[in-house]
Amino acid sequence: MTRPDEQSPVLAVTGLSVRFRMRGGQYIAAVSDATFELRPGECLALVGESGCGKSVLASALLGLLPGNAETAGTAHLGGPAGTEPVELLTAGEQVLSRTIRGRRVGLIPQSPAAHLTPVRTVRAQLEETVRELTRIRRPRLRRAAETAAERAAFPADHLDRYPHQLSGGLAQRAATALALVGDAALLLADEPTTGLDRDLVEHTVDELRRHISPTPARAPTPAPVQDPACASNAAPDADAATAAGPATSPGPAAGTGARDTAMSSDRGADPAADTVSRPVPQARALLMITHDLAAAQRVADRVAVMYAGRIVELSDARDFFGAPGPRHPYARRLLDALPERSFTPIAGMPPELGHLPPGCSFAPRCDQANDQCATLPTLTDGVACHHAPPPAYRAPLAGPGQRAEAGPASAPCSVADKPRATLPDDGGPGTIASDSGPRTNEAHHA
Ligand code: SF4
Repeated sequence: MTRPDEQSPVLAVTGLSVRFRMRGGQYIAAVSDATFELRPGECLALVGESGCGKSVLASALLGLLPGNAETAGTAHLGGPAGTEPVELLTAGEQVLSRTIRGRRVGLIPQSPAAHLTPVRTVRAQLEETVRELTRIRRPRLRRAAETAAERAAFPADHLDRYPHQLSGGLAQRAATALALVGDAALLLADEPTTGLDRDLVEHTVDELRRHISPTPARAPTPAPVQDPACASNAAPDADAATAAGPATSPGPAAGTGARDTAMSSDRGADPAADTVSRPVPQARALLMITHDLAAAQRVADRVAVMYAGRIVELSDARDFFGAPGPRHPYARRLLDALPERSFTPIAGMPPELGHLPPGCSFAPRCDQANDQCATLPTLTDGVACHHAPPPAYRAPLAGPGQRAEAGPASAPCSVADKPRATLPDDGGPGTIASDSGPRTNEAHHA
């Protein structure tokens, strides 16, 4: 019989809006009317160009918005049996800091180097986190911290380094290790693959997947047949060649199964190690914010596409990355922009969030726009577009954990081979730094 905590969502977000009050009484609408759920064992990939509001949404869920932010809507955090639901948008700072952050919601931040304490070594920070979030104490603490580092492929011989001595990729792995310690019911991963090379991308997202579901991410990716056109686009992690992380060693380390075998032989019967990497219950979920579409394709059950602060498509990952493909014109063009697809950039630039056009925000860039698009389309049947094709029939998923198969049929490379499928990270006019343009909005929480 299914337990109640397996049925109710880990996170239910309804009508979430965030706007920033600027000088002169102007507003910037960073997130508008976002509605989605995360079920136990499910991974939702939130994708979109830089500045579309993805990270603001995550900050709102953790109560980490600046003082000039106003929010509306609700975000109910469920979780395992025995834990009280929490309304994240109205919870006080004391509740958030003592019972939510790290314990019930783990965060892999977008800027890990800034997130780490600069005057303490990675080992000291990991040991402190393990001590605070688990019942492990000395003498098992040291080994538990090392095991936590292993989960994120952080090399043991770098544990005594300070954050300023780490590359961007190693800082990312340290932050990931810290986020996984608490075994939180909800994991918010904000660009968790930034600065990682291809093998570590797969290792990292597989570990995140394993955090929410004991189901292996997929059979280990076979050793790639090198295609020069693909290999030349790999984004290197400066320390990957020298760091002693598991994913950098020869062999099928990118596969979860292979890595787990290696880890269990390393761990032996250490009870501390078992505590920080124990088999996971089902009542966990992952919200992965990313512009790395290959990573999203690898682990996501569903995909939410954001444009100009709004979710414009919410789709099964199999449908989105495979057939029939995205239904929203912007989402289709996102995939078309990838090197392994037609490599066609999206014409024009995203609108400034303080200067959103009336009606559909994508209209100035959309070749299907007509008079009807002057009216704002609502998210209906998973898409916010007046001219979207109807949803195609798809046999229902058996449950969270069955994800998109690797690679579109037309892709020239396997997931392991192909160049990093990332969205433009332009920091352009879509960024929320702009302070121009008033915006009328529904009542916001102060
Ligand atoms: S509503 Fe109109 S402008 Fe907006 S994406 Fe659909 S067709 Fe294009």
